[in-house]
Amino acid sequence: MTRSPPIACDLLVVGSGAAGLSAAVTAAWHGLKVIVAEKEAVFGGTTAWSGGWMWAPLNPLARRAGIVEDAEVPRAYLRAVLGNNFDEARVSAFLDAAPRMAAFFENHTALQFEGGLKIPDTYGTVPGAGAGGRSLIAAPYDARELGGLVRRLRRPMRETTFMGMTIQAGPDLAAFMNVTRSPSAFLHVSRRFSRHLLDLAVHGRGMHLRNGAALVGRLLRSAQDLGVDLRADAPALRLLQEGGAVSGAVLGAGDGEVEVRARCGVVLAAGGFPHDRDRRQALFPADRDHLTVAVPSATGDGLRLGEQAGGAVDGSLAAPGAWCPVSLVTFPDGSTGRFPHIIERGKPGIIGVLADGRRFCNEGDGYHDYVNAMLRAVPPGRDVASWLICSRAFQRHYGLGIARPAPIPEGPFIRSGYIKVGRTIADLARVCGIDPEGLERTVADYNRHARRGEDPAFGRGSTLYNRLQGDARSLPNPCVAPIERGPFYAVKVVPGSFGTFAGLKTDGSARVLDAGGAPIPGLYAAGTDMASVMGGHYPAGGINLGPAMTFGYIAARHAAGADDETVDVRKASP
Ligand SMILES: Cc1cc2nc3c(=O)[nH]c(=O)nc-3n(C[C@H](O)[C@H](O)[C@H](O)COP(=O)(O)OP(=O)(O)OC[C@H]3O[C@@H](n4cnc5c(N)ncnc54)[C@H](O)[C@@H]3O)c2cc1C
Repeated sequence: MTRSPPIACDLLVVGSGAAGLSAAVTAAWHGLKVIVAEKEAVFGGTTAWSGGWMWAPLNPLARRAGIVEDAEVPRAYLRAVLGNNFDEARVSAFLDAAPRMAAFFENHTALQFEGGLKIPDTYGTVPGAGAGGRSLIAAPYDARELGGLVRRLRRPMRETTFMGMTIQAGPDLAAFMNVTRSPSAFLHVSRRFSRHLLDLAVHGRGMHLRNGAALVGRLLRSAQDLGVDLRADAPALRLLQEGGAVSGAVLGAGDGEVEVRARCGVVLAAGGFPHDRDRRQALFPADRDHLTVAVPSATGDGLRLGEQAGGAVDGSLAAPGAWCPVSLVTFPDGSTGRFPHIIERGKPGIIGVLADGRRFCNEGDGYHDYVNAMLRAVPPGRDVASWLICSRAFQRHYGLGIARPAPIPEGPFIRSGYIKVGRTIADLARVCGIDPEGLERTVADYNRHARRGEDPAFGRGSTLYNRLQGDARSLPNPCVAPIERGPFYAVKVVPGSFGTFAGLKTDGSARVLDAGGAPIPGLYAAGTDMASVMGGHYPAGGINLGPAMTFGYIAARHAAGADDETVDVRKASP
């Protein structure tokens, strides 16, 4: 094994997703010499596959749009939703820093945002719930701006893109869903698609970045502008400690190793433990066929490194993972994939049922809630699974899992067995292995009320969040329509996750804490390596990336001494 000469820097960042790159860019802007060590050959982690939404209440874009609120309002909302998992110090640190984080990036870096001005929080009936303005997304980005670095940008996730083309929630997605019904939608999609085909021909990939890919692209550009040393194929293997303080790490380098000494410490941002089977089995409920959609390299290294340095893992959260219902896909070439069901569950004319044919939740609520309800409803010892049931007409209109709406043919997914088909509801139940009488009863009962736009069993359409997921043209309730005319379609969904919530215990400065609650000098964690500030709850879309960006920013400023009036750093930052 070759051992290269040691390298010195001020801050070493482990991992190149939102948390790591936020820390790296912030620290470099404050004058620190920064190295980002990424285990994979490409940068971006799960962030590059994500929807890219960041929950950041009180952000400057909302203020500019006239949405002005006091920090007490989102704080009250979080206090109510998080209950016993509400951590006053960390929530305050987050609410205080999130608007400054957003202002810092938009004032000083290539990261520019668009505001989610109409995106409501999940639990609209809870006091303090926001009706819009608390979310941000990176503005679309032209990957040409990255120069040669584009080759190091993680390619999009096959399952959630169309031929590698990323589609953004909001008007972009609406155009794709209405391509056969509206001339302006057709024009938009034609433009996007022809540009994408040209990019594929010339560059071998889509160059019009959106969602998480735009976030990573803009952060990489900012890091490069500020002289951050971005190292791919450089896994952090172990931490260096001197007198109890973390002073760097040993990185893999080709067939050897290199020691990196980091004067101000190390930020762990290695993406949590969604692919660490042992830790998952210790912390996840009923983890048999769990299908995470996080990148395969998120194997829990950050948590292990933190523990080796004396850090404690907090496994006491309301849920250890950021759940979403996922279906297993077999592609025509025989390979398999994992599809996260984010969109179609909320549309009018689809229900979720268990093996006994019963519904078990408001299908249009959050993805995390759908899986929590499934975990609660399935009797112990049984496989945790549910089926999304709809008509063919629904599938052609809104899509069903990875089977896209018209004009994309659904035939290949029927032939592969991904979509189950029945002429009648009872036929469909038998094909799926659902109790036929139970399903017939459920659909008849649901339809009776749905014809009037009502859902007395679970109240679909009762919150702003539900209605945004629905279809405004479906009256009287955008979230409810009967399932009447066959053939009928179903897809099986099982518990999956976007990533993990359990992680290293940290304080409001993102410092890793030991079992006694004392900070370990020189060791920070951000993103999914730190125990989620949301305590295992999912109060809004974007609650992974908003805190990841914010605690990355907090960690870097702490390491740079930017909050310390006695230290001479670039204090002009917000
Ligand atoms: C389809 C999808 C949609 C999503 N949409 C959203 C959304 O809109 N909003 C939201 O808030 N969340 C969303 N999420 C979840 C969110 O993407 C993740 O929680 C978030 O990206 C995690 O960021 P991170 O910085 O902690 O880790 P990552 O982005 O996963 O980055 C971690 C990096 O660390 C690297 N690494 C691992 N081990 C080592 C090591 N030993 N040394 C060096 N590097 C290492 C990994 O290779 C990886 O590149 C979504 C997830 C998916 C899959």
